Amino acid sequence: MRKEPITETEETFDIVLDIDISKRTSELAEDNRGYLDAHGVRCLDVMGSVGSGKTTLIIELLRRLKGKMRVGVIAGDLTTRIDADRIEAEGVPVLQIQTGGMCHLDPPLVRRAFEKLDLDDLDLIIIENVGNLVCPAAFPLGAHQRLVILSVTEGPYMALKHPIMINQAEVVVINKVDLAEAMEVSVEQLAADLEQVKPGIKVIATNARSGEGVDEVLQALEL
Ligand code: MG
Repeated sequence: MRKEPITETEETFDIVLDIDISKRTSELAEDNRGYLDAHGVRCLDVMGSVGSGKTTLIIELLRRLKGKMRVGVIAGDLTTRIDADRIEAEGVPVLQIQTGGMCHLDPPLVRRAFEKLDLDDLDLIIIENVGNLVCPAAFPLGAHQRLVILSVTEGPYMALKHPIMINQAEVVVINKVDLAEAMEVSVEQLAADLEQVKPGIKVIATNARSGEGVDEVLQALEL
């Protein structure tokens, strides 16, 4: 006989704090948004698992925006500089945030990065969030748009397993479609799952490494 799963209400308890962290986070994110708006800068938060293709997609976006928009990048990472170095090679200003062990960026961290970047020289900031689809969902940063990138190499159920994250995104990219057949993942089913989780969400299939679909991502983001 199948045993019932353990759910949060049975096994965990809430710790009451003096402040409501999620409310405070939202307020700080709103404050960040106001700061960006005052400087006329748009901000895109890119989220996805480690290895889904965030950095590769960002680099392809940067190459297409060159000469059209002045773009700066904030690269979040637990410990390494690998992504920041790859992005810097594209000739755009990059600020790295090493979170130590923290699994997400938060509004005060990116605010410090905003203040270090010369916002008057920028039209757009792209944030590469820390690689996972759980923690960043609880920490809005104040970005105007959120893009989630899923890779077919993560298996067929990514959309259904991350509804909280998907619900906060305006655009979802399904990446590495060239590997879909080998992974036995249906891109059409993934797209249908995304539509089920958030009806009307924009879904673009890409092979970021070859550049396939990247122009459509720019269109979806209205960049
Ligand atoms: Mg990366």
